[in-house]
Amino acid sequence: MNVVITGGAGFLGSHLCDYLIEKGHFIICVDNFITGNEKNIEHLRENKSFKFINHNVSQYIDIGDDVDAVLHFASPASPVDYLTFPIQTLKVGSLGTLHSLGVAKSKKAKFLLASTSEVYGDPQVRPQTEDYWGHVNPVGPRGVYDEAKRFAEAMTMAYLRYHDVDTKIVRIFNTYGTRMRVNDGRAVPNFLSQAIKGEDITVYGEGEQTRSFCYVSDLVDGIYRLLMSELHDPVNIGNPEELTVMELAKEIIEITGSKSKIVCKELPTDDPKVRQPDITRAKNLLGWSPKVDRADGLRRTLEYFKSAI
Ligand code: NAD
Ligand code: UDP
Repeated sequence: MNVVITGGAGFLGSHLCDYLIEKGHFIICVDNFITGNEKNIEHLRENKSFKFINHNVSQYIDIGDDVDAVLHFASPASPVDYLTFPIQTLKVGSLGTLHSLGVAKSKKAKFLLASTSEVYGDPQVRPQTEDYWGHVNPVGPRGVYDEAKRFAEAMTMAYLRYHDVDTKIVRIFNTYGTRMRVNDGRAVPNFLSQAIKGEDITVYGEGEQTRSFCYVSDLVDGIYRLLMSELHDPVNIGNPEELTVMELAKEIIEITGSKSKIVCKELPTDDPKVRQPDITRAKNLLGWSPKVDRADGLRRTLEYFKSAI
């Protein structure tokens, strides 16, 4: 397949580029580096199965080649990033999704949207199944990301229903791994880099909020299975093993052997109190479940961070 990946120079997008090239596909990576990193795709620049277009997908996207699939991954994803770029986040979730769907429609290609567990907001059920409608504050600071992704899902379903585009929606839960930016602000990169440097580990609030962390190779495998499936309804992909943020901080101190101390900082507004994917749908319909346990995934990520710092 000829596959367009928007946001292909980011953390997840660049791993998808590698994975799909390995499977024999040709990649057209479209990115404007707002939160991405040229280094993530440096090793692919000379690859005959890879082409790069430097472009902001919130503007019209012009692709000359035939296209069989469009994977729309462009969007700031770390809370620090989307609070720094709130308007760009709203634009890429709305206009960027519209333009990416437009490419899929005109090329008669499949379309896969990178959505997020944030569509569930600060959830009142646990674990979160795909039929939960969510609990989102539209006017809070996180609304720029959550509502953009909710709009993107609605737009994707409209292109399925009214334009017959073969669409898929993956709801990605917290994913970590190599190529995350050291300063991207999310919990795993913050804690790992603080532990490596011997700085205080900054736990927000009392650290009682929960998350469930999926290693990037598992996520990419799940996304590929969804892309090749006949499904159109949203599918959660994430690791259901839930822990508190305080437990994560302690685990990272143990794995790194760091002397860093844990300090509590103010909890960001609307920070979800719980998050755990129900992955029954992915298990039953895609035959997918995560394989990499957290200790292993964190060690692999630690090696990357040691070399990146
Ligand atoms: P990232 O910031 O590393 O990657 C996003 C990429 O999109 C970057 O390379 C950035 O430069 C690019 N981009 C952003 N706006 C753009 C625009 N207007 N035009 C062109 N390129 C643009 O983040 P990530 O963690 O790799 O996330 C990728 C996607 O997955 C996002 O859509 C995000 O919402 C979704 N997601 C990620 C997670 C996670 O845990 N990593 C969880 C849920 C959803
Ligand atoms: N967090 C934290 N310290 C940090 C960064 C994040 O305690 O230095 C917390 C954050 O408040 C949230 C959880 O860790 O409760 C996961 O945050 P992340 O930014 O990784 O992603 P989110 O799940 O909020 O999208």
